[in-house]
Amino acid sequence: MKVAIVGAGISGLSSAHYLKKLCLEGGVPLELVLFESSTHPGGVLDTVKKEGMVLELGPDSFITSKPWALDLAKELGLGDSLLGVGYGRGKNTFVYYGGKLLPLPEGFFLMAPSKLLPFLRSGLFSAGAKLRVLFEPLVPQGSGGDESIRSFVERRFGREIFEKAAQPLLGGIYMADPDKLSLSATMPQFLEMERRSGSVLWDLLRNPPTSRGESGARYGLFLTPAEGMSVIVERLCRSAEFARQDYKTPVLSLKKSEKGWVLGSDRGEEEFDAVILSVGAGAAGLLLSDVDPQLGTSLSGVRYVSSAVVTLVFDEKDFRGLPECLGIIIPSAEGMNLVACSLYSRKFPGKSGRGKVVIRCFLGGELNPDAVLWDEEEIKTVLREELARIFGFDNHPAEIYIRRYKMSMPRFALGHKEEISGVMHRLSRHSGLALCGAAYFGVGIPDCVHSGDLAARKVYADMVR
Ligand SMILES: Cc1cc2nc3c(=O)[nH]c(=O)nc-3n(C[C@H](O)[C@H](O)[C@H](O)COP(=O)(O)OP(=O)(O)OC[C@H]3O[C@@H](n4cnc5c(N)ncnc54)[C@H](O)[C@@H]3O)c2cc1C
Repeated sequence: MKVAIVGAGISGLSSAHYLKKLCLEGGVPLELVLFESSTHPGGVLDTVKKEGMVLELGPDSFITSKPWALDLAKELGLGDSLLGVGYGRGKNTFVYYGGKLLPLPEGFFLMAPSKLLPFLRSGLFSAGAKLRVLFEPLVPQGSGGDESIRSFVERRFGREIFEKAAQPLLGGIYMADPDKLSLSATMPQFLEMERRSGSVLWDLLRNPPTSRGESGARYGLFLTPAEGMSVIVERLCRSAEFARQDYKTPVLSLKKSEKGWVLGSDRGEEEFDAVILSVGAGAAGLLLSDVDPQLGTSLSGVRYVSSAVVTLVFDEKDFRGLPECLGIIIPSAEGMNLVACSLYSRKFPGKSGRGKVVIRCFLGGELNPDAVLWDEEEIKTVLREELARIFGFDNHPAEIYIRRYKMSMPRFALGHKEEISGVMHRLSRHSGLALCGAAYFGVGIPDCVHSGDLAARKVYADMVR
């Protein structure tokens, strides 16, 4: 069968890999053709190698609590080259609040403590906020319908916990406004805790998700390939054995034909038995608007947010006083442009070269969309001023890399899960057509890999039926 993969991000390339595997196992001949609008594969994955450094300018790692990215890395022969986070230091997060850097207490997990003593001792939260958290078990359960992250956190833990911790932590992961983010589509485990135990606090205290020394994210669960995230892309391109890889070739139209599907691009029209669209929901919606207007409308309704990642490389000798943490979050109430900083050389010392301090700074997002449009000089000026405030001195990086990720992160609005289950149901009417990508089941790399696997299975099942 002849199949088109449209979009060469991690999702599309994973779908190609899994489809190839299914066809090999089933003895079905496969001709795979890749269409990608940019000049290279990988989508938002972007590794730069220089002078012993392996810098990630986009995503820097993947979580292993969802198995799909780890399983894929192992299948691609990368199992032995995966590095964990940090080398024995505290894997904690600091919050820049009220002009000070304060540690998020050990065991604090995204929106609530999983260890009481460090939380009660913490200088970050007021006595009132601590008391409010202790009373959380008395808060009645929600209605069971979808709820925004902000509403859930404020309802269960109060406003201060939201403002100082949940907003910058969860807003930072999704670069979105937690007032508009669906809890069921992003952090369903907290809804489950409320349902299961009647109290998120009780549930977390009984089953602490963080390990010793951790706060904020579960850093111990993240892995990164020593060769760089882009090695996953290289291996996927190799394993898919594409018959053709057409770069600088955006797909502009999609029609049903007698045999299957006709794709249109600047190179003309071409017929395929099946098509996997891995192009972002908006672009998929446009391509499908004639084929199935209802599908087109649902897909076009998924909103995206933009962000900028600025990677700063300092010589270690010029940089003193780095706080003992892996990341810094900045609540939006601080009125700064920086959303978060990741201390990359602490997180992945094996990838940052000798004698270097590497800091990744995150700007923009839904609460500050203009930052992505700033020119290089504006970004540098703002960063210099804000980093001086946070770190207490004014340093010049030896190198600076700016990457703008425009409309690259889907923002899961209230009702997203139901909307997407409707999309997948409707898609089952279209034989030989599948969708995959960050817009559907989760934005993280494991979810994207899994969505590629599911898309491959749908197309394969449609074709061999
Ligand atoms: C800055 C940033 C940091 C992140 N950090 C992490 C992290 O550390 N860990 C983690 O797990 N996740 C992270 N994520 C999330 C995760 O990396 C992404 O959700 C995931 O990589 C998206 O992959 P994708 O293939 O779905 O989409 P993309 O990577 O966006 O790929 C889509 C591809 O489709 C192409 N395309 C679009 N339209 C067309 C068309 N008409 N024809 C042909 N091609 C087209 C695009 O050029 C692009 O290459 C991060 C995301 C961002 C933006």
